[in-house]
Amino acid sequence: MTDSLENWRRTHYTKNVKPEINGEEIVLMGWVHEIRDLGGIIFVLLRDRDGLIQITAPSKKVSPELFEEIKKLKKEGVLAVRGLVQESGKAPNGVEIIPEEIKLLNESKLPLPLDTTGNTHAEIDTRLDSRFLDLRKHNVSAIFKIKSRMFHSIRNFLESRGYLEINTPKLVASATEGGTELFPITYFEREAFLGQSPQLYKQMMMGSGFDKVFEIAPIFRAEEHDTLRHLNEAISIDVETAFTDNEDAMNILEELVCKAITDVKEHCEDALKTLEVELEVPETPFKRVTYDEVIDIVNSKGVAMRHGEDLSRAAEKALGEVMDDYYFITEWPTSIKPFYVMPGFEDPEKSCAFDLMYKDLEISSGAMRVHQHDLLLEKIKKQGLNPDSFSRYLAAFEYGMPPHAGWGLGAERFTMCLTGAKNIRETVLFPRDRRRLTP
Ligand code: ATP
Ligand code: MG
Repeated sequence: MTDSLENWRRTHYTKNVKPEINGEEIVLMGWVHEIRDLGGIIFVLLRDRDGLIQITAPSKKVSPELFEEIKKLKKEGVLAVRGLVQESGKAPNGVEIIPEEIKLLNESKLPLPLDTTGNTHAEIDTRLDSRFLDLRKHNVSAIFKIKSRMFHSIRNFLESRGYLEINTPKLVASATEGGTELFPITYFEREAFLGQSPQLYKQMMMGSGFDKVFEIAPIFRAEEHDTLRHLNEAISIDVETAFTDNEDAMNILEELVCKAITDVKEHCEDALKTLEVELEVPETPFKRVTYDEVIDIVNSKGVAMRHGEDLSRAAEKALGEVMDDYYFITEWPTSIKPFYVMPGFEDPEKSCAFDLMYKDLEISSGAMRVHQHDLLLEKIKKQGLNPDSFSRYLAAFEYGMPPHAGWGLGAERFTMCLTGAKNIRETVLFPRDRRRLTP
C-alpha cells in the first residue's frame, strides 16, 4: 500500500538542512538509500538530488504506528518525511530528522539490478543498461550538474558577446565534408542523412547578415570505431563570426573555455568535490604550437608521424605527455583539412585551421573559412566532391559573403575535461555508440 502525495510538498532539499534550522519542521522527499534497524532505534538514510540525510526514529520518541511504518520501509522506496530538524554531532551532516509523519509514495522492486550506493563495482555496460538507477548515484549525477552549468555558462557568455542562438536542420540531403561518417536514412522516396555538423548552415548564416551565431545541437557520426572519445551522437557547440579570422576565433574560444571553467568552479563546488576534481582556470592566451612543431614533439617521443598525416591516437598520447593543459595546434596542412578551410595567406599549404586540445584530447576544431566563391568551388572539386550537391550552399557565396571564422566544440569532450571522466560515455545520459541504441 502506498500513500498519495495530497498537499504535501517538499520544503527543503537535503543540502539545505543545516544546524542553523535546528527545531524547524520540514518536509523532505526522496528515496530510501539505506535502512539500519537496531531494534529500539531505526536509521533511514534519505537520498535526494543533492545529498543524503539521516532520519532517526527511536521507538521511545515516535508513535508506535509510525515506528511500524518506518520498520517496513525498503531500499529505493519513494519517501516523503515531515519531521523536526535536530542538531546532532553524530549524524553525517551534523543534523538528523526526527520524523513526525511519513508517506511511502511508491515502492521499488527488489533486488535492484544495480547497487545505488556505489559500494559494489559495476561495469559501464551494466550501469548504462540501468542508467536510471545509475544516475541516482551522486558521483554520476555530479557529471550532469557540471555539464548543465557548462551549457548555461556558455549560453550566457555568448549572449553577452552579442551572439544569436540558432537552430539548423539535422535532416540533410548530403554530406558536410564528404567522407563516410554519415548515417543514411529514408526521407520519403529519397535517401537523406543525419547531419554530421551544422557547418554549411552556420556559414550560410554569415551570408544572411546575422554576423555572430551559435548553435548547441546534436551531431551524428557513423564512426565505426569503438573508443573512449567517440560517440555516434554527440552535442556540438558551434560558433561562427563574420568579419573575423582564425586568431579571433581562437581568442573567443579560449575565453569561453575559461569562463565555463570559472563558472563551474563557482557553482558546482559540491559536484566537483564528489568527483574529487580540482579545476584550475588556465592562463590565457593558451599555448599555440604549429603542426610542424607537433611533428617534432611526437617524433621526439618515439612515435612516427609524417607531414600530411592527421594525429594518430599514439601521436595524441605522445603530445599529451609534453603538453599538459589547454593548447592550440595551428597551421594544419591545407590538404588534410576540409574544403571550407581558408588556405594560409603567406603559404597556401599551411591552412588557417586550428584544433583546441586538452592534454591528449581534441576538444574543438575551427578555422577561418573560405568566403570567395571561386576558390571554394575549386577546393570542393579538388577534394573529389561533387559541386552539384553543394549548389545551394555555394549560391550563398555569390551574393556577398563576408570573411568569417568559427569552430565546433564537442560538449562531451569538454565535459570530460571538466569532470575528469576517462570514458566519454560517462558524460552522456543515454549514450549512442557502436553497440548501444537503448535505453
Ligand atoms: P576526432 O579526430 O577526435 O575523431 P574530428 O576531428 O573528427 O574528431 P571534428 O569534425 O573536428 O571532429 O568535430 C569538432 C569537435 O566535435 C571535435 O573536436 C570533438 O570535440 C567533437 N566530436 C567530433 N566527433 C565526435 C564524436 N564522434 N564523438 C564525440 N565528439 C565528437
Ligand atoms: Mg577535428
